[in-house]
Amino acid sequence: MHPFQYQRATSTAQAVAAVAPEPGATFIAGGTSHLDLMKEDVHRPSRLVDISLLPLKQITALAGGLRLGAGVSNTAAAAHPEIQRRYPVVSEALLTGASTQIRNAATLGGNPLQRTRCPYFRDPAQPCNKRAPGSGCAALGGINRGHALFGASDACVAIHPSDLAVALAALDAVVQTTGPRGPRAIPFPELHRLPGATPQVDTTLAHGELITAIDLPAFAGRSHYLKVRDRASYAFALVSCAVALEMDGEHVRRARLALGGVAHKPWRLPAAEALLVGEKPSEKLFRAAADAAFADARPLEHNAYKIPLGRNLLVQALLETSGLQALAGPAGTAFAASVGGLAGTFPAPY
Ligand code: SF4
Repeated sequence: MHPFQYQRATSTAQAVAAVAPEPGATFIAGGTSHLDLMKEDVHRPSRLVDISLLPLKQITALAGGLRLGAGVSNTAAAAHPEIQRRYPVVSEALLTGASTQIRNAATLGGNPLQRTRCPYFRDPAQPCNKRAPGSGCAALGGINRGHALFGASDACVAIHPSDLAVALAALDAVVQTTGPRGPRAIPFPELHRLPGATPQVDTTLAHGELITAIDLPAFAGRSHYLKVRDRASYAFALVSCAVALEMDGEHVRRARLALGGVAHKPWRLPAAEALLVGEKPSEKLFRAAADAAFADARPLEHNAYKIPLGRNLLVQALLETSGLQALAGPAGTAFAASVGGLAGTFPAPY
């Protein structure tokens, strides 16, 4: 690990002022992802500005919704009674991610900013445009069973690993920030970007811009999160799915769907959402929506299995969210799947 300066911020203004003028400086809160990258020599910050003592740990009511402080731990958010009652998709997504110990330290502001789990990104001996721009992409000619189906580029085919981010995208959450240019609100689907020619840039945040809260808008429907992974715990999604349905009697008034594990950002499904609106839930309808959701998928050499897997997962999530089928397991759990073929051949740690 390379030497770095450490300082503890006592206010958001002080934190921003410490990071913004120094290109190598960065914020750190729980550090659950960041410290791994430093130990793997993937990230070499010149300065860590510790924001863990800032007063960002409240969950408060907000115009029919909730404001979640960026410093709230994943554990506290997943167990919060209002989140469990009104936004179960958030609680379920959090509980499918990592171990209890990591959830205790990880924060809501940091979780969506975790970097890809592409194994080549985390191996400094491999070419990787995200880690070392211009060096190439080892995944394109390597093992890419965990990589993207949508929105990839010739420079990078990585996926975003956060479960929480998929739930927040489906709920149209809003990210509150403060930075060198003052506060701003970012619609969650605009927080992450596609790789294009600059995959080293994950988000639309400016350097020194600090997430202070995540707002969940008013929502009076049913929501649910399902995730498929190689083993039952402490694994990232091969494919995951967040569903938020609002009903008008027996018919769908509004549907919001997002996939995880398939793109460089949580992947919203506008064509599938439009198919559901005004319709009465049925398995036939959900299968049509799932077909629409994956119509534009562009598989790589090793990840075509994600298409039928994702279609079936989306149908299952819709059946369970709409009440046509009972939950497959206790809320907050996901099931493991054998994906056959290349299972187990992907370099650790994926
Ligand atoms: Fe790097 Fe992206 Fe290629 Fe992975 S997919 S090796 S993160 S450029």
